[in-house]
Amino acid sequence: MQKSIGLTGGIGSGKTTIANYLASLGIPVYIADDAGKKVMQQQEIIKAIQQKFGSDIVKENQLNRARLAEIVFNNPDRLKELNAIVHPAVRKDYKKWLAEHTDAPFLVYESAILFESGSYKDFDYVITITAPLEVRVSRVLQRDDTEREQVMKRINAQWTDDQRVSKSDFVIENIDIDLAKSEINKILKIL
Ligand code: ATP
Repeated sequence: MQKSIGLTGGIGSGKTTIANYLASLGIPVYIADDAGKKVMQQQEIIKAIQQKFGSDIVKENQLNRARLAEIVFNNPDRLKELNAIVHPAVRKDYKKWLAEHTDAPFLVYESAILFESGSYKDFDYVITITAPLEVRVSRVLQRDDTEREQVMKRINAQWTDDQRVSKSDFVIENIDIDLAKSEINKILKIL
């Protein structure tokens, strides 16, 4: 029977790196963040967001995602409104994707907010990727054009590693990538 795996971890933990590794093994991987970006380019979704968030959120038929992120970041009510538009569209996209991969023995769904969104309940197993906070911060500072304070704000808005770990079936500490990959291989063998 097909087994579904939810893959998560805090910012900079390396979950996308691990997701890419799983994909390189031939496992179908659905990246929820990419799907969110994709649905936010659909005109019907743009229109729905514009209706809720005002016309200046759209320029030349494209959403101003940075502005939108600013609006919802410290405002749970507005975030709920945005999620109420985006999440059903992602779910629809995911269902379509699932139907295209019925033959695969494993499926992986990668999301930064697997726990926060409650979607962790939809999977047979949950794997959490962890790394020490300072390592995560320095990775993100290297990868993105951002500042430490911004990274910390994003980290503090998510669940903590302790919270994630307590609800996970497997935890992989991703410091040495080769070691993390061998842990993944072990888990796949167990499953
Ligand atoms: P976010 O939630 O911010 O998207 P993420 O958890 O998906 O982050 P990645 O994008 O996979 O994390 O990794 C963050 C950065 O750290 C990337 O530039 C990646 O190449 C690097 N990285 C990931 N794992 C390791 C590792 N074991 N050693 C060194 N660098 C790593």
